[in-house]
Amino acid sequence: SDQRVYNFSAGPSMLPVSALERAGSEITNYRGTGMSVMEMSHRSKAFVQIFEETQAKLRRLMDVPEGYKILFLQTGASGQFSMVPLNLIGKTGKADYAVTGNFSNLAYKEAKKYGQINLAASSEDKDHSYIPTQDQLTLDKDASYFYYCANNTIYGTEWGYVPETGDVPLVCDMSSDILSMPVDVSKYGIIFAGAQKNLAPAGLTVVIIREDLAGHELPYTPLMMNYQTMIDKDSMYNTPPCWCIYMLGLNLDWVEAQGGAQAMEQRKWQRANMLYDTLDSSKLFRCHAQKGSRSGMNVTFRTGDAELDAKFVAEATQAGFVNLKGHRKVGGMRASIYNAMPIEGVEKLCDFIKKFDKEN
Ligand code: PMP
Repeated sequence: SDQRVYNFSAGPSMLPVSALERAGSEITNYRGTGMSVMEMSHRSKAFVQIFEETQAKLRRLMDVPEGYKILFLQTGASGQFSMVPLNLIGKTGKADYAVTGNFSNLAYKEAKKYGQINLAASSEDKDHSYIPTQDQLTLDKDASYFYYCANNTIYGTEWGYVPETGDVPLVCDMSSDILSMPVDVSKYGIIFAGAQKNLAPAGLTVVIIREDLAGHELPYTPLMMNYQTMIDKDSMYNTPPCWCIYMLGLNLDWVEAQGGAQAMEQRKWQRANMLYDTLDSSKLFRCHAQKGSRSGMNVTFRTGDAELDAKFVAEATQAGFVNLKGHRKVGGMRASIYNAMPIEGVEKLCDFIKKFDKEN
């Protein structure tokens, strides 16, 4: 593990070394079963135990109340862009969407197939560099749900508050900030996340759903996209993503040993503030996100000169800081600093930024 790089990828991204090493040590023979978790029946005793323990760990770490089900699904976070409207919009035929970046926009466009969608807010006027305030939300009392994306992976903005929508249930895409802070799950109808950033390898989608929201799907909802199917079968209607669930469990062991969601939040802002302070006090770099809307997970920045940006990325790669190139929609650089990114990785990146700033 001493040859590992600091990987600032937006996802799939870094996992804790302890989880990787544990998986490595169990790769050919999981606890005396004589087989790898990859080779196990999902109905086997050993796997069912992994499954149940992993669910219980997540419930504990996110403090998921009774009345909520934790589902382990597939088709990525993007699958939820369809699954949410298919299952929820039937109540009134209408839903509110806040579009604050790429993925909420995709969700918004997908939802339009299934009902009347109100654009409750949009930050497109300023290239998604900010999060609208509560006052700026145009809410419909008759909406079946209010949809937003808590952390905008590409633009590097994060909702600093939970929208207040009265009786309208909140549906939240937490793909890029789940478990980076304590969350009051009881405020939400549905929380979902693609696992490949803060939770596990790609291939698993975690859904936390208030159970009464299921069972009202549109009649043509595919069986596999029906929350009720998955609730009834405890995510085992078909073969679940077994390996990813196992890896999630190992990652959650690490989160728990570090002190849980509170510790993750403390480190998140320790890392992010260090990086924002360094960028703000540099002469070359500017952050994309406005102060007050900045993400603690994805830090977007640029010099304003594409050639200089490319030079920065190339030299950073050489120095062992990889995947810093920004998404093409924003350009410049992006440092994704999820839970598993050590503080030290960001400290060293800040030193590198300061050096580059001086030399260029
Ligand atoms: N939502 C957010 C916030 C994301 O960052 C991503 C992926 N980067 C997605 C949704 C899409 O996830 P998936 O690739 O799992 O469909």
